[in-house]
Amino acid sequence: MTLMVPSTTPAATTLISPGRQALDTALFQLDQAADRLHLDDGLRAMLATPRRSLTVSVPVRREDGRMDVVQGFRVQHNTTRGPAKGGIRFHPSTDIHEVTALAMWMTWKCALVGIPYGGAKGGVSVDPGSLTTRELERVTRRYVNEILPIIGPDKDIPAPDVGTDEQTMAWIMDTYSVNAGYSVPGAVTGKPAALGGSLGRTGATARGVLIAALKAMPGSPEGRTVAVQGFGKVGAPAARHLADAGCRVVAVSDATGAVIDRSGLDVEDLRTWVKETGGVYGYRHADALSHEDLLELDVDVLVPAALEGAITAQNAPRIRAGLIVEGANGPTTPEADRILADAGTTVVPDILANAGGVIVSYLEWVQNLQACSWSAGEVDAKLRELMESAFDTVAQTSAERGISLRQAAHVIGVGRVAEAHRMRGLHP
Ligand code: GLU
Repeated sequence: MTLMVPSTTPAATTLISPGRQALDTALFQLDQAADRLHLDDGLRAMLATPRRSLTVSVPVRREDGRMDVVQGFRVQHNTTRGPAKGGIRFHPSTDIHEVTALAMWMTWKCALVGIPYGGAKGGVSVDPGSLTTRELERVTRRYVNEILPIIGPDKDIPAPDVGTDEQTMAWIMDTYSVNAGYSVPGAVTGKPAALGGSLGRTGATARGVLIAALKAMPGSPEGRTVAVQGFGKVGAPAARHLADAGCRVVAVSDATGAVIDRSGLDVEDLRTWVKETGGVYGYRHADALSHEDLLELDVDVLVPAALEGAITAQNAPRIRAGLIVEGANGPTTPEADRILADAGTTVVPDILANAGGVIVSYLEWVQNLQACSWSAGEVDAKLRELMESAFDTVAQTSAERGISLRQAAHVIGVGRVAEAHRMRGLHP
């Protein structure tokens, strides 16, 4: 059976948007897992469609007095195992399809790492770099007001994603709390520590990427070469952790360009350059490289940590890294996955490799609900325990069934959600 999701936007163009491609990828992965789990058509349809999907118009007053209207979305893909959970993305190409795909991946991710959440995602189709801080605050607050009826600490808990950060989460916490009439720290995760944010949340996704990479690496990390696509919130700290673990980070890229130094980049120096100039472009202590060439470098480990659809049928045959650790959500298309599997490349899939962020979000939420705070060491130990145990379960299922790590991760994640559906039954 081929799964279809009803579209809320007209398919007016013949070009398939990147968001629609991401959703096709997510549906394909679900279909494969459902086949392996022998799920019936009814359950497949439940899992293929979001429980709740909200599109809102967000009017924003610009500094010059003009009013623009941008689109915002919040999709709750599944709430069977607990409240919906997932980040909010600010990006110009965000659409309802992309947000639906990302929400679906959150559902499997939370189930896979064993935290009691369903999956959600939010998005605003705006380029945060084109707004002043005050405009950004107004967009955030208005968007949150529009989605207010469906979010909350017991319903759906937002967090950071591409284009949003601690400051965005602070505005969300404030907007929610002002509407509630009292302070509700558990309404959002990824907040600043001053507002009840957890120690270790900011770098949690990158810590998780490191844990997954080290588990997947055969032997010692010492001297292994690494390329990172997307030197941002996840990629930059992940590069730093990998370098600290003994790897040689030879190339990184971001939206401004790509740079390479075969003898190993000084990751901290490069991060300082990026802070000062806004991107890796022009970094003096390395050579320039094209975005395409970065993905195809002869390195041991490739970390795609940018957006969906980076590794495709076009470039996959030229990828030489033996290990890919997906810091981004959905960076590899199903066609590319097949090519990489045939070539013997190990891919640690997104829903496992980048789960560190939502794991520490969960730890933050638990601290908020209990009105307590844990030390950085406690948070890190819990993160490590959940990541390593999820990794071991995925590796074991992959070996037992003779399937890829991605296929195994989806069988486990989808299987746990399907089981929860069966136990709850259908109302009425
Ligand atoms: N946006 C992150 C992700 O894709 C984190 C979500 C969260 O912490 O809820 O996993």
